[in-house]
Amino acid sequence: MISKEFIDSQKKLIENKIDFLSGELSKNKTYKDLGSTDEDRAKEFEDFEEKTALGKGENQEVANLKRALDRINAGTYGKCKVDGEPIEVGRLKAFPEAEYCASHAKTNK
Ligand SMILES: [Zn+2]
Repeated sequence: MISKEFIDSQKKLIENKIDFLSGELSKNKTYKDLGSTDEDRAKEFEDFEEKTALGKGENQEVANLKRALDRINAGTYGKCKVDGEPIEVGRLKAFPEAEYCASHAKTNK
């Protein structure tokens, strides 16, 4: 059984993570102008590609975290999507956005 206190603390953790990731995402949005030679442009493009790829991963995590908040509000947080059993507390501490218990996580990645 997952206590209300635990869910409240998870909610704070999730909100903090969303804030942090959103901040990182906005930092990475700018296309840095390094110069006008071909070499500079190639480097600019490389940096931009790298940041965009990074941003995708963070966007995905923000989406997962927001879905976890939805589940908190719906009262279904911490239940495995496969069998509805409570997800291990240690697992939720490490991955507050976890949707599956440890035994189902492997098959639902
Ligand atoms: Zn399960």
